[in-house]
Amino acid sequence: MTPRPVPLRPAVADLPAYVPGARAPVGAAAYKLSSNENPYPPLPAVVAAIADAAADANRYPDMYATELTAALAATLGVAPESVVTGCGSVAVLGHVLVAVCAAGDEVVIPWRSFEAYPIAVAVAGATAVPVPVTDDGRLDLVAMAAAVTERTRVVVVCTPNNPTGPAVRADELETLLAAVPSDVLVVLDEAYVEFVRDPHAPDGLAVLAAHRNVVLLRTFSKAYGLAGLRVGYAVARPRLAAGIRATSTPFGVSHVAQRAAVVSLGATAQLMDRVESVVAERARLLDGLRRQGWTVPDSQANFVWLPLGDRAAAFAADAARAGVLVRPFAGDGVRVSVGEPEATDLLLDVTADWSERRSA
Ligand SMILES: *Cc1c(COP(=O)(O)O)cnc(C)c1O
Repeated sequence: MTPRPVPLRPAVADLPAYVPGARAPVGAAAYKLSSNENPYPPLPAVVAAIADAAADANRYPDMYATELTAALAATLGVAPESVVTGCGSVAVLGHVLVAVCAAGDEVVIPWRSFEAYPIAVAVAGATAVPVPVTDDGRLDLVAMAAAVTERTRVVVVCTPNNPTGPAVRADELETLLAAVPSDVLVVLDEAYVEFVRDPHAPDGLAVLAAHRNVVLLRTFSKAYGLAGLRVGYAVARPRLAAGIRATSTPFGVSHVAQRAAVVSLGATAQLMDRVESVVAERARLLDGLRRQGWTVPDSQANFVWLPLGDRAAAFAADAARAGVLVRPFAGDGVRVSVGEPEATDLLLDVTADWSERRSA
């Protein structure tokens, strides 16, 4: 008689897998445009801080990341009590959901959007209510507001939206906030905020100052180029921030990561020059695609979206053969991160080939 296995929670047994962006096989050279990473390595001063911090690895880190929290608070113009750091903003989102959701509560999310959302919601024991993005890849904030019920505890607004690219407009966000009850939390996931150049996009900090039920999520993974060290944070009213802190993994941000983030924050001007080159490269990529006849959504982030539908996987395979790793979402489209100019050139060769075949 086989012993009965330990059951997994049904929500966990049914979790969709988070699919990481493709990596080049060991020894093979390829441009990795599959995970929205920063193509630039950390600044020498950041690498030095990392090496220094490594010498203290026998000690637990500062549990509340006091120095980083203070530096962030000063930079953002908020109280340190309003800042909660964590092991990547994905982890912070999980802590936010655990802090406010109970079993059976609903979380309204856009879809297609960040693939971590349905997973984080299910892990928190809540139910995701996905609201489709429009054909041009924009969040439908009117439909998202309409999806709020008595059971809704959280609405997640991903701006710019990963993987489609557009940012929400400030006026449509205000309309959503006016429609949502004051005890429903609105999470603004601003992982790509530093890349936004759309003048109609909201100023997250101003939105937070005007609404008590808002939490901002930001990260060092993208513009600050520290994806490998896992540092993200939430900004919220102190009472909410305390709740998020209470549910966080103790010592979730390593000492190495804290030091790297503090030094990177101090080098913001230099790092934003790099962001500016990614923004310029994004314009060149979008322009090149449109000249080839592609219809692509606006992008305010460090990636572009090719709505290829059923041909997503075939395109990704072709791109990989050309030496560019991209991220296909089966049946939906392909997300291409903006990286090195050489990678843009290679990618535009592949897309040119595809548009010729399409019109042939
Ligand atoms: C990359 C990303 C994050 C941040 O992830 P980290 O855990 O901070 O590396 C958060 N939200 C979205 C939408 C992202 O694309």
